[in-house]
Amino acid sequence: MFARIFSGGLAGVDAYCIEVECDCGPGIGQISLVGLPDASVKESQDRVRSAIKACDFYVPYAKRWIVNLAPADTKKEGPAFDLPIAVGILASTSMLPTEHLSKFWIAGELGLDGSVRPISGALPLAMAARQHGALGIILPQDNADEAALIDGINIFPVSHLKQVCQLLENPDAIAMLDSDPRRTFKESQKMRRAGPDMYEVKGQYVAKRALEIAAAGKHNILMVGPPGSGKSMLAQRLPGIMPPLSFDEALELTKLYSAAGKLQNKTSLVLERPFRSPHHSASAVGLIGGGASPRPGEISLSHMGILFLDELTEFPRSHLDTLRQPLETANVTISRATQTLTYPASFLFVGACNPCPCGYKGDSVKCCSCSQFQAERYWNRLSGPLLDRIDLHVNVARLTQDELSSMGSSETSDDIRLRVMRAVEIQQERSGTQPFMFNGQMTQKQMVKHCKIDEKSRLMLAKAVHNLGLSARAYDRVLRISRTIADLKAHEDIDSSDLAEAISYRSPYRVHLES
Ligand SMILES: [Zn+2]
Repeated sequence: MFARIFSGGLAGVDAYCIEVECDCGPGIGQISLVGLPDASVKESQDRVRSAIKACDFYVPYAKRWIVNLAPADTKKEGPAFDLPIAVGILASTSMLPTEHLSKFWIAGELGLDGSVRPISGALPLAMAARQHGALGIILPQDNADEAALIDGINIFPVSHLKQVCQLLENPDAIAMLDSDPRRTFKESQKMRRAGPDMYEVKGQYVAKRALEIAAAGKHNILMVGPPGSGKSMLAQRLPGIMPPLSFDEALELTKLYSAAGKLQNKTSLVLERPFRSPHHSASAVGLIGGGASPRPGEISLSHMGILFLDELTEFPRSHLDTLRQPLETANVTISRATQTLTYPASFLFVGACNPCPCGYKGDSVKCCSCSQFQAERYWNRLSGPLLDRIDLHVNVARLTQDELSSMGSSETSDDIRLRVMRAVEIQQERSGTQPFMFNGQMTQKQMVKHCKIDEKSRLMLAKAVHNLGLSARAYDRVLRISRTIADLKAHEDIDSSDLAEAISYRSPYRVHLES
C-alpha cells in the first residue's frame, strides 16, 4: 500500500514542501530511505522502528518499506522527518487511516519511547504549510508557541506518536492551539527587563553622542581607545537606545532564529534586538555563515541588531574583508555546489580596538612604547575599504580622575531612545511610500534629494575632503551622518554645524597615529 505525507525542509530561512512517500511491499522488515537523506535522516529508521514498537503497534516482519523524500534532488537534513516517516509506515501498513493525511503537514523528531522532541525551523515550516494550503500542521509540543505566531494555520501540538495516531483517526481528538500572537507580543513587551543603561557610563559624552547618531541613522561605528576606557560597556548599551522591535520585525527575527535552531526554550518570540559579540578567534563560517549543512553566521544572527567586534584588529583580515559585501547589501549569499542560499544580515556594525599594539597611544597616563612602524602595521590589519564603510570614528579616551569620582548626571537610555525614535520617524515620513531606508543606507538618488547643503557648507566639506584625504565613499558618508544629526534636531535642512560635527567623526584612522 502507498501513503503520502506532507512535511517540510529548510533552505536558508525559508521552508519548502517535502513529500514523504511510503510504499509497503513484501520483504524482510527493511526500511529503505531514498531522496538524498543525510546521515541524521538515515538514522531515523532505527528511531522510527523503536517508536512504533513503543506504541504497541504490530509491525509485520515480512514487509519492506521504501520511503522516498521528494523532491529527490535536494539534500534532506535533520531529524524532523522521523514523525512523517513513522506515520507513513503505519499508514502504508493499513494501521492508520489515510483519508486525513493530505490535510496536514507533519514534522518532529522521535524518541525511542515514541515521545516527540522539538525541531529547528518550526516557524518557517508553519509559514510554508499555510502557503501550501494545508489545514493544519502537526508539530512537537515545545515548538507550538513559535509556530502559533503565524495566522491562518491550525497548530496541533503533540508530545507522543500515539497522539498523532489519534489525531489522524479523528481530527477532533486533539485540541488545536489557541493563541493571539499580537496580544502576547504586546504583553511581553510590557514585561521587558531593562538592560544595561547608558547613565551607568561615566563621562564619554562624545562617544555616547556618536552612538546616538549611529542608532538613529544606522551608521556603522568604530571606537578607538586604551584598554579599560569603556568601549565594550558603551557598545553593550547600544541596543537599549535603539527603537523597540515592531511585531513584524520580531516575527522576521524569530523566523531566522527558528531556522538556525537558536530559539531559547520556552521563548516563542525574539523580543530584543540581538547583540552579538563573536570572539576574534571565530571561524569565517561562524562569522559569515555556511558550512557543510549551511547555517546562518554571526552577521545574520545580529540581523536588526548589533554586531560588535571587540579587538577588531585581532580578527584575521580575510574575515573582516568578507564583511564588506553584507555591509553594503544587508544580506549574505552563500554559494555551494548544490545550492545558493541568502541570509538576511542587516546589522549595525560596531568595532572597537586599541589605538596601537600596546594600547596607550595618546593616553594621558601611560606612555606608548610602540614604534611608528609597529603602529602602522597594526592599522594596516584593517583594510581601507572596510574603514571607509565605517561611518563614525570615535576616540574613547581614558576618564580623568574628576570624571571617575563624579556621580554623573548622564541621560538614561530611555531619554536617548526617545530622540532616536523621533529621528527614525522623520526618516520614515521622508521615505513616504518608498521602502524605508535609514540615512546610513540611502542611495545616491535619495542623497541628492535629501542631503542638500548650502555654499558655505559645501566649501567646508571640500576643505575637509582635501585635508583628511577622504574617499568618494567617505564623502557620501559625511553627508549621510549630517542628515541624521539634522534629523535628531528635527531640522529640515542640514546646516554647517551639522556638517562640522559629521566631519569630526570622520577623521581617518591615521589621525590616531599622528596624535
Ligand atoms: Zn603603543
